[in-house]
Amino acid sequence: MEGEEKQNGPNVGPKIIIIGAGISGIAAGSKLAQQGFNNVKIFEASDRIGGRIWSVPTDAEGNKAEMGANWIHGIERNPIYQIADENHLLQLRNKDKSFRRKDVYMREDGEVISERLVKEVDFTYGMLISKCEEFFACSVPTPEEDDSVGAFLDRTFEENVENYSNGNRRLRELIFWHHKLLECCISGCDNLHEVSLAEFGSYESLPGIHYTIPPGFEAVLDILKQNIPKENIVFNAPVRCINWDLGPDSEYPVCVEMENGEKHYANHVIVTVSLGVLKASSDRFFSPPLPAAKQQALKKLGFGVVNKVFLVFEEPIVDADVFRLNMIWDPDTVVDADLRNSWYRKIYSFEVVHERILVGWLSGKEAVFMESLTEEQIAADCVGILKKMLKHDIPAPIRVIRTRWGTNQLTKGSYSFIAVGSTQQDILELSKPLSSKGVSKPSVLFAGEATHPNFYSTTHGALLTGHREAANIIRMYNPDSGVEDNSDQQDSDQQDDVSN
Ligand SMILES: Cc1cc2nc3c(=O)[nH]c(=O)nc-3n(C[C@H](O)[C@H](O)[C@H](O)COP(=O)(O)OP(=O)(O)OC[C@H]3O[C@@H](n4cnc5c(N)ncnc54)[C@H](O)[C@@H]3O)c2cc1C
Repeated sequence: MEGEEKQNGPNVGPKIIIIGAGISGIAAGSKLAQQGFNNVKIFEASDRIGGRIWSVPTDAEGNKAEMGANWIHGIERNPIYQIADENHLLQLRNKDKSFRRKDVYMREDGEVISERLVKEVDFTYGMLISKCEEFFACSVPTPEEDDSVGAFLDRTFEENVENYSNGNRRLRELIFWHHKLLECCISGCDNLHEVSLAEFGSYESLPGIHYTIPPGFEAVLDILKQNIPKENIVFNAPVRCINWDLGPDSEYPVCVEMENGEKHYANHVIVTVSLGVLKASSDRFFSPPLPAAKQQALKKLGFGVVNKVFLVFEEPIVDADVFRLNMIWDPDTVVDADLRNSWYRKIYSFEVVHERILVGWLSGKEAVFMESLTEEQIAADCVGILKKMLKHDIPAPIRVIRTRWGTNQLTKGSYSFIAVGSTQQDILELSKPLSSKGVSKPSVLFAGEATHPNFYSTTHGALLTGHREAANIIRMYNPDSGVEDNSDQQDSDQQDDVSN
């Protein structure tokens, strides 16, 4: 294979196996196909592409529930935005956004909180989040050893509100609690005490609006997969083990063993399974075991559960101008520690997805607990809280759609974060390739959202890591291919393309 030129025919060139047909696997397959690498198989354990991108029809009108990714996070330098824009998939997050723009904040008894007060707390909160980011950005030591975002926010917020009188102070604290529940869903943790303060700023937010994709996020994958030959994606093909060190006498350095006992040999394998799957099964997924540093890295990094509950009603149940109902819970009024009676208090808002459909997001223990309930129980609990807050009767939803990312055996959670005790260096360690003995080219490469040092937890991060690892393989065979590692999207051509 050494020095082999760009190949155009089928099944020639290095044998490459990609494990997982999520966006990172599909992006890698697409880039390889573009460069003429056709001896590629993508093994996907489930019966669909997309992994944590999964758009489920909700009704006959073509509306979709995004079970996983929902937002394109930012515009500038965002390759997902670029694909969606070029292919006319975009529209502002609501058809009737100009109409439906009211964010209502209400306590559990229905008391509506004034917009002015919410804005004041928003401002303080935004300032504190920026301070959290500065520790990484400016390489400044955190005030405490192993400090967390949660501990820092609690300390500094208390200093901010200590001069207010009791009533005023309490309301501010409750709005602050709401903002932290939202932040838990953004970070993908149970609570912010799990998230490293020193590393929080390593996540890079891309500038610009956050769009949704009305035809469904999956439409991006349909475009990405276009140049991958159909027969190269194999569904219902769970991989059991990667034997990655077959020795110098073997024709191929790697053998991928399937759950059904089949064996497939390859020059290179790109692993894209989630960090949750790696955490749960890396000891049996790799033979020989992963190097100690990689094992440590994947153990230390955080991977949490974020779930959604969609309530589909026969008729709209909120006023026509309302976009989001924000719940201002009082955490101190939970007298019953049984999650059966309190799980829903982790839902920070119900947002109008389509006029008859609301979605609530929740994370952590409560999100995991929700997965054990029946749809009827979820409907009853959610209708109960909505009735109390809106102070009027509400019919039962005609359908409940909820996600179960925690118990999903193919993800074992939702997305990654840098937990207290881990660093961005652990992400870099996770993304390092493995080399088999006696073979000069790396044989196992790692992609997937958790392997991007700045865009972890996102679809654009996942896509870029797929491109990164495909480019690494392409350069091994065609050093003059001109294929760049654009995983940080610093390439000026791309920047220009995206911003046009
Ligand atoms: C609830 C939720 C909300 C989100 N919201 C957003 C958002 O708004 N915006 C955003 O940008 N991102 C969001 N994300 C994150 C985004 O969805 C992910 O970062 C991205 O889709 C991950 O892609 P991936 O290719 O790395 O992994 P995956 O999509 O997990 O792909 C890995 C694939 O590997 C397969 N697999 C697993 N084990 C095996 C095996 N043994 N053999 C073969 N195949 C296997 C899986 O079935 C899966 O298809 C959200 C995620 C969730 C769960």
